[in-house]
Amino acid sequence: MSSSNQSDKRVLELLGRGATAQASASDSVSHATVCELCFGTGVEVVPGKGARPCECRTGTSKQKLLKAARIPDRYSGCSLQNYKTFSPTQREAFEFAWELATKYPAVNRGLLFTGSVGVGKTHLAVGILKAIIANGFPGLFYEFGSLLKQIQDSYNSISQTSEMRVLAPVYHAEVLVLDELGASVPTDWVRDTMYQIINHRYNQRKLTIFTTNFSDERPLTEENASARRTDKRVQPNTNYTLDERIGVPLRSRLYEMCRTVEIRGDDFRKITL
Ligand code: ADP
Repeated sequence: MSSSNQSDKRVLELLGRGATAQASASDSVSHATVCELCFGTGVEVVPGKGARPCECRTGTSKQKLLKAARIPDRYSGCSLQNYKTFSPTQREAFEFAWELATKYPAVNRGLLFTGSVGVGKTHLAVGILKAIIANGFPGLFYEFGSLLKQIQDSYNSISQTSEMRVLAPVYHAEVLVLDELGASVPTDWVRDTMYQIINHRYNQRKLTIFTTNFSDERPLTEENASARRTDKRVQPNTNYTLDERIGVPLRSRLYEMCRTVEIRGDDFRKITL
């Protein structure tokens, strides 16, 4: 069996297992979190009109949760089911993603996906968020750069604070995807604001899923990689590591909040377009 057939088989196995896990998780959700409309009976009594199937059973509430999650249109078609695994690290990342999505809320750490552009970090993060929402839990997606811009735009120079209207959802979201951590140029303000948001979630033990193009190891440039192969002296390169980009205290928080999952592979757009 070719390695791609093997990986397809593994994915199918996981999806098969997951489908059962998902069904039972969603069943248990409707019993565990008692609906305010039907009190868990599945039938809502509308005064003067009679009884009708409750929206907690018809899926309307999940559609609302999905809309409220702010997943960008570009990623609306992404799911765990259509994530393809070409490399061992992609297979491993998929398995961690699946585990988190199907076990939530019985999990104590999020995930930090690191890796180069186009390996599917955001795709996986969105897939987890959508699977969690499908099980009836709310969640939120933010691209870190645009979140920082919104906070900056809401900054009031007189009170010297940013509006809680912007910050509150990010602080309180049960599940939050923060995409592209470290992408903004790390000025003092950017670092302070990132720290404030992530530290708040750390203190409240809220589940956060991060993606970043920066890794803990300084990446080799092509020139350095070939120097290594030919045993020549490796030149220092100027690419940043994650802790240089977000600061050591924040990187340290992330170790506790998340399992770091490095994904290596080719840019999906390059190999498929
Ligand atoms: P990254 O966040 O790693 O830069 P993205 O998740 O934004 O990459 O992926 C870029 C595009 O390629 C998206 O449209 C995504 O759905 C698709 N893609 C990337 N990797 C995969 C994959 N392994 N399987 C299916 N689609 C993928």
